[in-house]
Amino acid sequence: MLEIPWRVRGICLGAPMPEDLDVFEEFVEKKLAPGGCNLIIMLIRYRYQFKSHPECANPDGPLNEAHVKRIVAICRKHNIRLIPKMNLLGHQSEKTADSFDGLLRGHPEFDETPEMKEVFYCRSLCPNHPDVKPIVFDLMDEMVDVFESDGIHIGLDEVFDLGKCDRCKDTPTYRLLAGWVNARITQGYLRSAFNYIGLDFYVNKTLAAAVIRGRRGFSIGWLRPQPN
Ligand SMILES: [Zn+2]
Repeated sequence: MLEIPWRVRGICLGAPMPEDLDVFEEFVEKKLAPGGCNLIIMLIRYRYQFKSHPECANPDGPLNEAHVKRIVAICRKHNIRLIPKMNLLGHQSEKTADSFDGLLRGHPEFDETPEMKEVFYCRSLCPNHPDVKPIVFDLMDEMVDVFESDGIHIGLDEVFDLGKCDRCKDTPTYRLLAGWVNARITQGYLRSAFNYIGLDFYVNKTLAAAVIRGRRGFSIGWLRPQPN
């Protein structure tokens, strides 16, 4: 077996379909755990039967709470840290206005580019829509609770269309992005789960990915806006 000296030995997996949970458990049991895996980033996106906002669920095989608890149990059995991942800014659709996915499926009013029939790559949320943050925070809290996780991967990659709507057009995009990330910390996210929040943030001109994670004893992390 390949010996990997790294402290974190993780894998990013699509969330299994409900009918494939047996296969997933077998994969963890026979391959990942014996191979030393200790972290799974699970791409839930919106494929979960949210109780807080049912309208946001992807209808294509959404997991329910019982399904997730099976995933939690097999990971816990093997001491594998489980982090759910959602897309919480970009990746809210394909290119066209009729391809709403993600949060835009239930709330098309959050589209950053409602006037555009087709965008460059995928549609994005408007970070300044007055109703978007409470819903996003509810969904994040529900994910963390049901996955019994100490963190959540919030995506933020490939946000090509930002700063386009009337609310956002006068603000530099890097400030919109920074404000969106910081809002999760300052406006009540993780209101019950963690006392302290650490923020890992990796960004370049076109790609950003962030993981917010709870770590008792760490001070609150801030993202300082940087051009580019
Ligand atoms: Zn906007």
